[in-house]
Amino acid sequence: MDLKAATHVCVSPVEMEGDDTQVLPRSPMYLITIQGGVPGAMLRIEGPEASLGRSAENVHQFPDPTISRRHAVITHDGSGDAWLTDLGSSNGTYLDGKRVPPHAATRLEDGARIQLGASIILKYASLGPDDERFQREMFERTVRDNLTGLYNRGYFMEQIGPLCERNRMRNLGTALLMVDIDHFKRVNDLHGHEAGDAALREVAKVLRESTRSDDLVARYGGEEFIVALPVASADQGWERAEQFRRMLASRPIRAGRKELRVTASFGVSSSTMARPRGIKALMTTADVALYEAKRTGRDRVVAAERMLTAAERRTESCDALAV
Ligand code: GH3
Ligand code: MG
Ligand code: MG
Repeated sequence: MDLKAATHVCVSPVEMEGDDTQVLPRSPMYLITIQGGVPGAMLRIEGPEASLGRSAENVHQFPDPTISRRHAVITHDGSGDAWLTDLGSSNGTYLDGKRVPPHAATRLEDGARIQLGASIILKYASLGPDDERFQREMFERTVRDNLTGLYNRGYFMEQIGPLCERNRMRNLGTALLMVDIDHFKRVNDLHGHEAGDAALREVAKVLRESTRSDDLVARYGGEEFIVALPVASADQGWERAEQFRRMLASRPIRAGRKELRVTASFGVSSSTMARPRGIKALMTTADVALYEAKRTGRDRVVAAERMLTAAERRTESCDALAV
């Protein structure tokens, strides 16, 4: 998910009326998150219509229970004016503190505060190149991990719900990979903390290099990483994790004059059309699978779907006895 690519700066020319047609740069419009979601997140408002709501069919999605599936819409008319219309939402849309009537367009001014439902507050603002850069930098500092440059855990947890929903809309499932470096304490103890940091950066690099724009990868904390991928089947999640594992195990890590290697264990769980799982269940089962990968020798991938349940194991051992 590349935020830079999604919201790059572009100055659109506006033609002025009259004989001396002047071309003036107009700053792009954004919704900046003030409350709810990730503070400082910037949503660029482009085109004649931008719908806002809980479901993935909207241009901008807000995974909040007080937001209606299709909550409100921002439209731009030919003269460049902007309008806000509530689409008959359950919990209402507020403009500068006043509830707007449903299904009626209300004029939207630069700097206006929009409240959706009970908890989302956004500022509608134009941002010139300098302001846009500043705002983006502040946002990046909030959502990125300093050491590796990957997203942090907070941002991952904010994004995983909308990501699963988007995948579902494309008839795809989501695989969740929990990644934990093996015996990492030893790396620090044997080679020093600096070498440990270099190893963490290299693991992040491997994950970044082998993920695509639809994937979400983050440092979960310490020497643990988390990845969410769109998949057509649970097997696909396992295969991608196996690719990561192999790449990592064969990657030399330069730490000063030393060269070292690390391995990692992977716990994978998938929510597919055949077996849907909520986020909490995905996290718990991936964690159980990771624990199993550690228990059975490390440097391996264990998929929750491939683990036998306790009941299945009992049945298997009964069958074995019967033979
Ligand atoms: P296991 O294979 O069971 O996962 O063993 P482990 O040694 O990887 O796990 P353990 O939880 O015992 O140790 C994790 C270590 O990771 C301990 C901690 O000092 C180190 N660590 C966590 N964050 C950082 C960091 O930012 N930089 C460095 N250099 N080390 C870190
Ligand atoms: Mg750990
Ligand atoms: Mg570890």
